[in-house]
Amino acid sequence: MKRVLLLLPTTGYRNDDFLAAAKKLGVEIVAAADHCHRLAPSWGMPPIKALHFDRPEHAAESVRREIDGKLDAVLAVDDSGVELAALLSQRLGLPGNPVHAVRRVRDKLAFRRLLREHGFPCPQFRHLPSGQDPRQWAAELTFPVVVKARRLSGSRGVIRADDFAALIEAVQRVRAIQSQADRDHRELGLIIEDFIPGCEYALEGMLEQGRLTTLALFDKPDPLDGPYFEETLYVTPSRLPGATQDRISQEVARACSAAELATGPIHAEVRVNDRGIWMLEVAARSIGGLCGRVLRHSLGMSLEELILRRAVGQPPPIAGADGAAGVMMIPIPRRGIYDGVEGLTDARSVPFITGVTVTAEPGQSIAPPPDGAGYLGFIFARAASPVEAEAALRSAHRLLRFDVRAGFPARGDYPCLQGSP
Ligand code: ADP
Repeated sequence: MKRVLLLLPTTGYRNDDFLAAAKKLGVEIVAAADHCHRLAPSWGMPPIKALHFDRPEHAAESVRREIDGKLDAVLAVDDSGVELAALLSQRLGLPGNPVHAVRRVRDKLAFRRLLREHGFPCPQFRHLPSGQDPRQWAAELTFPVVVKARRLSGSRGVIRADDFAALIEAVQRVRAIQSQADRDHRELGLIIEDFIPGCEYALEGMLEQGRLTTLALFDKPDPLDGPYFEETLYVTPSRLPGATQDRISQEVARACSAAELATGPIHAEVRVNDRGIWMLEVAARSIGGLCGRVLRHSLGMSLEELILRRAVGQPPPIAGADGAAGVMMIPIPRRGIYDGVEGLTDARSVPFITGVTVTAEPGQSIAPPPDGAGYLGFIFARAASPVEAEAALRSAHRLLRFDVRAGFPARGDYPCLQGSP
C-alpha cells in the first residue's frame, strides 16, 4: 500500500476531497495540519500532527522525529504547505520541485524578478521595504499601480491605487493586512507594480518531468479592474481563439521552466491584452477552493484523485469530455458575521446547475478581499456551451440571499480563512 504525507490547511475546503480520493485509491494517508489558533468547524478527522507550515525547517525536523515508516510522497493540499512539501520531498529523496523554485514563485517580488530576467512581459515593479515611504517615487510612478503583499493569496492584500493619495492609503492598509497574515512581514515589505489592463485567464496544468499538460484554461468573464480583486466566475473551455489559448499554454510552460518547476500540479493566472500575455502568477499547486470540482467531468475523476495518482506513480490517462463547465466563487458581499442563506433550493433547480455548496458557517466572521481571502461557497454548472454555463451561474447566484450582519472583527483579523483559486 502506498503511503502519502498530506499537508492539510486547517480550514482548507478540499481536505475531504483529498481524503476521499485516497480512500478510493487505497492510499494510506498520514495527515499533518497547519497549526492555526482557530480550529475549523468542519474538521472531520484528527490530524496526526500540527505543524507550522510557515516554518518549513522547523516543521521538517518535527516530521523527521515523529513520523515513522516509509513515505511514497509528500503532498500539500494548498499554497500554505507547498514549501514544506518540497523540503520534505527533498530530504526524503522523493520526487518534487526544488525548494528554492517553490519559494520563489510564492513570493510576488521574486517572481517578478524572475520574469524580468527571462524576458517575459512584466510590469514595472518596485520593492517597498517596511518603514519606507512611497513618496520617494513621486516623480517616477505612472498610475494606476497595484500594491501587493508579497506572498498572500486569494487577492488578499492586493489593492489598485489611481493616484498618490490612494497609494499612501493602500500601502498602510496592505501593511496592516500582511502584518496579521505573514510572520515575516517586516523583512518582506511590499511590492508596487504597474496595473496591467486586459482580460484575465487561469490555466490549470500538470507537470511531468518538466512537460506541461494543460488540464483546463478558464475564462474569467467578470472584469477584474480593482480597486480590490475578488474572483467570481471561472468558465471552461475558454472562448479565446485557439491560437491565443496555445500561446498562453506555451508562455505558462516557459514560465514553469524558467522557475525550475518540473513536477506536479500548477495553477497560473495571466492577463491578455494587445501587448501580449502577462503572467500574474504561477503557483506550484492546484486550483484552490472547491473550484477543482468543476473539472471532475472532463478529467473523468476528481482533480485530487489525479494529483494523488500521479504522486504515487500511477498517472492515469485523462478522459477529456465535451461540453462546458463553470464555477462561481460566491463573493462575500460585505464584512460582517455570516448568519445564513435563503434560496438554495431555487438556485439548485436552475437548468445546468450541478451543485451549490455553501462553505461559510453560521457565526463565522467574513470579509471580502483585500482583508479576507475566502468565499461564501461555490456554484457549479455544466452545459453544452460556456455561454450557457456562465448564464446559469449568474441566474443561480441571483436567487441566493445571504444574511450577513454587521460585526466588529478587527481589520485583517481573518487568519484562517483560506481559498485562493
Ligand atoms: P493572489 O496570489 O493573491 O491571487 P495576484 O498577484 O495574483 O495575487 O493578484 C490578485 C489579483 O489582482 C489578480 O488576479 C488580478 O486580478 C489583480 N492584479 C494583480 N496584479 C495586477 C496588475 N499588475 N495589474 C492588474 N491587475 C492585477
